[in-house]
This record gives sequence, C-alpha cells and structure tokens, in this order.
Amino acid sequence: MAALLSLDLLRAGYGPIDALHDVSIQVSEGEIVALIGANGAGKTTTLMSISGVVKARSGTVSFDGRDITRMPAHEIVKLGLAQSPEGRKIFPRLTVLENLQMGAFTRSDRDGVATDLEKAFVMFPILRERKNQPGGLLSGGQQQMLAIARALMARPKLLMLDEPSLGLAPQIVVQIFDVVKELNKTGMSVLLVEQNARMALKVAHRGYVLETGRVTMADEAQKLLHDPRVRAAYLGE
Ligand code: ATP
Repeated sequence: MAALLSLDLLRAGYGPIDALHDVSIQVSEGEIVALIGANGAGKTTTLMSISGVVKARSGTVSFDGRDITRMPAHEIVKLGLAQSPEGRKIFPRLTVLENLQMGAFTRSDRDGVATDLEKAFVMFPILRERKNQPGGLLSGGQQQMLAIARALMARPKLLMLDEPSLGLAPQIVVQIFDVVKELNKTGMSVLLVEQNARMALKVAHRGYVLETGRVTMADEAQKLLHDPRVRAAYLGE
C-alpha cells in the first residue's frame, strides 16, 4: 500500500546542529505507528519537520501523494495533518468549546464542523459536561483529551500525537491509549511519539526506534516489544 506519510532520508536541526540524520519513516493509511526513543532522541523534531515548523536540510517529506518538504506549516495543516503537541498546549483561558472551535479554524464547512463537534462530545463526554469552563480548569487527563479532540476538529487524515501519556496517572494513560485505538478503528492513521514505549508499542502496528537522531530499529510493534535490545533500553528490563 502506498504510504500516507513518508520521510525519506530527512535531515533537520537547529543552528549548527543536526538533530535528525537521514531519518526514513512511513505511515500507511489506517496504521498506528509508534516512534519511541529517549529524551532528546529527536522525536519532537521529527514531528516538527513533518508539520513544517522545522525545515528539512535535506531529504523529503511526502504526505498523501504530495511533496510537502518546503510547504509552509499552515498549508500542511490544510492538507489534513494535525498534531496534538507535547505538554498538551490547550488554550487555558478559552472554554473547552472555544478550544475545540480553534481546532477547526481552517475549515469553512459549518455543518461538518458541527457534526465533528458532536462526535468529539460523544467520544469524550467529559468535554461536553465541561464545555463552558476554561480549558485550564480541566485535569491533566482531561486536557490531554481536549488536545486530541481539538486536533480531530481539523478532520485530519493523519493524527500526530506527541507524548500523550506525559505526566498522567497510569489509569488515565490507559484511557488515552484506548481512545487512540478506537480512533484507529474508525480509520484514523496515527503517528504516536512516546517515551512510554511499552504502551505505545502495545497499541501500534509498527514502530521505529530513534537514537540520537537516527532510526536504529524498525519493525512490527509486537516484534519490537519482544526484542531484547528494546526491552533492555526502553522497557526497563
Ligand atoms: P523529548 O522527549 O525530551 O522531547 P525528543 O526525542 O523529542 O526529546 P527533540 O526535542 O526532538 O528530542 O530534540 C532533539 C535534539 O535537538 C536534542 O539534542 C535537543 O537538545 C535539540 N533541540 C531541540 N529543540 C531545540 C531548539 N529549539 N534549539 C536547539 N536545539 C534543540
């Protein structure tokens, strides 16, 4: 199957430093792909390069059959690539409803937006209950749900999640990953960046291990979960 997202030999970085060295990653339609790695391995930089915030120095990024390597970030969003950033980054003073509406700012199909808002409330009933409260008053887990729901309001073809489990209690983490699985069952393709390698590989179909800006392993998620090197380095065994 043709890849929905394809990074080919991507090199990117900050100032004099290359943070990514010839990174090649694919996500096919309908897949959950996990990108795991330690602090500073380059996971966030990878997502930023895909969304056009950090520019590639060489290599290519293609999405849905188009070369997006040099495309401005706001145009990439319109093509159907949505990101739920690390640290959630919801708008704390805006209400839950306003946060969700912000997620749809590139859309002009009012009926479609209304339908998707209703879908978000069905998927996350707590957001309906709290829809008129400031986002900043939600718990950490609820804010993560809001961040995911907001990304979905763009009706993306690919959802990129940066560390959705960060700072959340274990039972909330389970809930978040259940949501990711449910979304994927409805056909959503997901690129999941996580330090919580165990949880990420459990929900993903395939995974990549990133070490100091290089892809060092790529395989089916189940195989990575049972790989002795992954177990020693990322699963605390
Ligand atoms: P974390 O889980 O801590 O977010 P990460 O795997 O996402 O880690 P990146 O944030 O992509 O890693 O960082 C990759 C490398 O790039 C690191 O060496 C980091 O110090 C460096 N880096 C990240 N952001 C910047 C920046 N804005 N300016 C300079 N260097 C940066």
